[in-house]
Amino acid sequence: MYKKYLEKMYNKGKITFFEDLKTLLNKKQKKLIVTANPETLKYAKTDETVSKILNDNNVLIVPDGIGVVKAAQILGINITERIAGIDIANELLKLGNELKKSIYFFGSKQEVIDDLIKNVKENYPNLKICGFQNGYVNDRDIIMKEIIKKEPDIVLVALGIPEQEKLIYKYINKFKKGIFVGVGGSFDVISGHKKRAPKIFIKLNLEWLYRILKEPSRLKRFYNNNIKFILEIKKEKKLQQK
Ligand code: UDP
Repeated sequence: MYKKYLEKMYNKGKITFFEDLKTLLNKKQKKLIVTANPETLKYAKTDETVSKILNDNNVLIVPDGIGVVKAAQILGINITERIAGIDIANELLKLGNELKKSIYFFGSKQEVIDDLIKNVKENYPNLKICGFQNGYVNDRDIIMKEIIKKEPDIVLVALGIPEQEKLIYKYINKFKKGIFVGVGGSFDVISGHKKRAPKIFIKLNLEWLYRILKEPSRLKRFYNNNIKFILEIKKEKKLQQK
């Protein structure tokens, strides 16, 4: 059940992935990148649109989260490394600045997006900000239609999974070009409103633990999505062996 998604995932590691991002930007290719964690894959079971997105051959799925990497290992699929959404967001800012590309930011609270824009203007002066909008609007479709008109090279959407991916997917055919990524809580971190886990947590693949320690309300979500997910993967493995 999960195997087909794990087999489809990008498995060449972060450095090569960043090179690929550069190529996509240079060639003005259109791409939806889904940073998939166990929660995303679990949605694919119950939500038809998410399943359609993940099965779409034009969509690039990247392993975000150690749960996904471990699941792949259990099923004997080779995924070397996790590539976090926040790392992709930061790399796109860097590449966009280097290549003088344009970007649109959609999502997060107003104060978060204000500080994000300040930070981006300061640190990525050659990146052209063609617009930004907080994620608490009544009509997200109107915003998407505005973004289409601006023809950005990069569109980062931070509305949480799976809404951000579904919204991008609904409109991607209307765009001529652009790299589209649902980046979850990345704006909160880049703006300085939330801290990312200390390096040692990241290195030991314990970023999830840091997030739970900081926000204990995440524990239930973690249990439902990650622990249950690994149990389902183990079941899948048993079925495979039969
Ligand atoms: N968000 C938003 N509009 C909403 C709900 C959420 O803009 O209606 C933003 C929220 O402010 C946060 C991000 O979406 O910046 C989701 O962050 P979270 O850490 O929950 O991401 P996930 O774990 O889903 O990747």
